[in-house]
Amino acid sequence: MLEVSNIDTFYGKAQALWDVSLRIDEAEIVALIGANGAGKTTLLNTISGLLRPASGSVEFLGQRIDGLAPHTIVELGVSHVPEGRRLFTDMSVRENLEMGAYTSGAWKRKEETLEQVYQVFPALKERGGQLARTLSGGEQQMLAMGRGLMSKPKLCMFDEPSFGLAPMLVLEVFQVMKSLREQGITILLIEQNVRHTLEIADRGYVLENGRIALEGESKKLLKEELIRKAYLGL
Ligand code: ATP
Repeated sequence: MLEVSNIDTFYGKAQALWDVSLRIDEAEIVALIGANGAGKTTLLNTISGLLRPASGSVEFLGQRIDGLAPHTIVELGVSHVPEGRRLFTDMSVRENLEMGAYTSGAWKRKEETLEQVYQVFPALKERGGQLARTLSGGEQQMLAMGRGLMSKPKLCMFDEPSFGLAPMLVLEVFQVMKSLREQGITILLIEQNVRHTLEIADRGYVLENGRIALEGESKKLLKEELIRKAYLGL
């Protein structure tokens, strides 16, 4: 479904990604693991068109998407739920969700999609008229995820959705990932919670200093020395 090939991404003269390649097949959950500053967010931003790679390519469903505008990439079926939620805090829950459906195709189906999102996150329906900033941290994360689903993505990329959440809510986030995959949504997941992530993911990639250091099936990665020492504290 997604093929990232040999990309280099820069911020001005500073290089953040070196020769990064990654593949995601349909209906997979793929984990992206790495320490702070490893380049995880930069990779997501390069896929979603917020950054342009200096070299290499990104293909989605057989079409080159690097160089396309972010809104075009959303229309093609790639959604990005950013780090830190980035909600419209002075807008209501419902308005935030509607903002996720701004592409012409998704807008026509917005009521139907809203009902689907409410099934995944019932609390958002109850709080539809409330301003986003009055929600709890967990509810705000659910809203960011719900907004990401409103564009009817085929591939949804989540940047640290469990960050700052209480343990019970962290588990809920992982349950949501599993149920989205059952609904046919393919997922690229950045998470610090490496054990839980590899337990639900099919495959994973480890980024270190802007380079892919390790990749493979999650079950195998859980046994790797690098993962056990650096990320599981074993
Ligand atoms: P975190 O878990 O802390 O979000 P990350 O793995 O997502 O880390 P990135 O945010 O992609 O890492 O950062 C990769 C590198 O690029 C870091 O060295 C960072 O300092 C640098 N960087 C990130 N954003 C910018 C920016 N806007 N301008 C310049 N350098 C940046």
